[in-house]
Amino acid sequence: MVGAKVDILIDETTRQRNHELIDGIFIPEEANLIKTIPLSRQEAEDRLFWPFTHNGPYTSKSGYCFLKSEEEAEINDEQMEQDRTLWRGIWSLQVPNKIKNMIWRACRNSLPTKDNLQRRTRIYNAVCDQCKLVPESAIHVLWSYTEMDVVWEDVSIWSHRRTNNFIDFKKLLSCLIFNQHHLELFSVMAWSAWTQRK
Ligand SMILES: [Zn+2]
Repeated sequence: MVGAKVDILIDETTRQRNHELIDGIFIPEEANLIKTIPLSRQEAEDRLFWPFTHNGPYTSKSGYCFLKSEEEAEINDEQMEQDRTLWRGIWSLQVPNKIKNMIWRACRNSLPTKDNLQRRTRIYNAVCDQCKLVPESAIHVLWSYTEMDVVWEDVSIWSHRRTNNFIDFKKLLSCLIFNQHHLELFSVMAWSAWTQRK
């Protein structure tokens, strides 16, 4: 079998596949796949065919695009898995649904913060009314903003507020879920901070 080519799987006279041979060599899934590849009815020389260009010749550009799309698909899969873990984490919290809902919306970046309102062109200026320094985002109003120091003042629990710089609320919550870090307490506090916001 060493050095054998695919043509040994095809009966020369009938131009049909040798199913018995295929079943003998390959595992059932592979064998079934092989049997579904269409065969040419006429005698023709085999040629290399690259499926990512129009006529089949390989070009470095199409090769690059192919690798890029493979890479993106992998990143998307990873992202989806992380999101699933996050949603599962939120929905399994032992807190009222209205709190889960608000936390979920903060992670999806769909709370009516000024940066979101600006994105939806309802307002022109997204800068935070309180500090007037940065855009008003969920992570800012609920976590990093200095007026929130009083809420998260217990450094024995929320020490990572000083050490980590989370770019958004989703990253923060993912980190807390990953570490199973006072999740219920965090959600209730974030929820009350949101509802008591001026
Ligand atoms: Zn601010």
